[in-house]
Amino acid sequence: MRDIAIAIDGYSSCGKSTVSRDLANALGYAYIDTGAMYRAVTLYCLEKGIIQEGRAVDAGKVIRELLNIKIEFKYKTELGKSETFLNGKNVEEDIRSMPVSELVSPVSAIHEVRKVMVYLQRKMADHTAIVMDGRDIGTTVLPNADLKIFMTADIKVRTQRRMDELRERGIKVTEQEVQRNLLKRDKEDMMREESPLKQAADAVVLDTTNLTREEQLAKVERWAKEKIIASN
Ligand code: C5P
Repeated sequence: MRDIAIAIDGYSSCGKSTVSRDLANALGYAYIDTGAMYRAVTLYCLEKGIIQEGRAVDAGKVIRELLNIKIEFKYKTELGKSETFLNGKNVEEDIRSMPVSELVSPVSAIHEVRKVMVYLQRKMADHTAIVMDGRDIGTTVLPNADLKIFMTADIKVRTQRRMDELRERGIKVTEQEVQRNLLKRDKEDMMREESPLKQAADAVVLDTTNLTREEQLAKVERWAKEKIIASN
């Protein structure tokens, strides 16, 4: 059987990471969460005081720090998933905070940031047998991916899911705050000049509004297996 590369893109909080991780586990593939990489760059800049909430991002300052940022994923067997490390420190929790969510879109719109991240992502995907999720995977990072999925869901459902996730982590947020952040990020991600969020012409759409986690996995696993069979 030939291994395939799977690209999963879509709007914020549609369940991309969950379905990608479930699919990777089901197929025995590696999973790369590219959003975590842009979040790690943003967290680094926030902690260094290079960027601040409510202020415009100074691209020059961010670019100067790029060589000081090392991002790694380490697989934790007991959790059955990878965690994100920034310069040797586990930042899996910190990168999901609201201040990071507020600033990640302008940081990820910087040409040099994308150049470095896309380079790293392609290197990680070198051996295929991979599920990668993000905003530009099917269009830019892995344009030759065997299976491309574009995910969407109703904004109310997406807001509720993100609120549940944040509250589970003990982060207090209002519905209004979360919905505003999701819509703002989607807009910024779709409007940016470089690799904007958009459905690849050859992507299949997965609307998760009315699907359970199990139903989502069943659908994508079927699509993936069809591709695997067809590619042999
Ligand atoms: O997937 P997640 O919501 O964690 O991504 C956070 C942000 O990182 C997105 O809103 C987007 O601005 C940026 N991103 C990107 N390209 C990717 C993945 C994420 O620009 N491939």
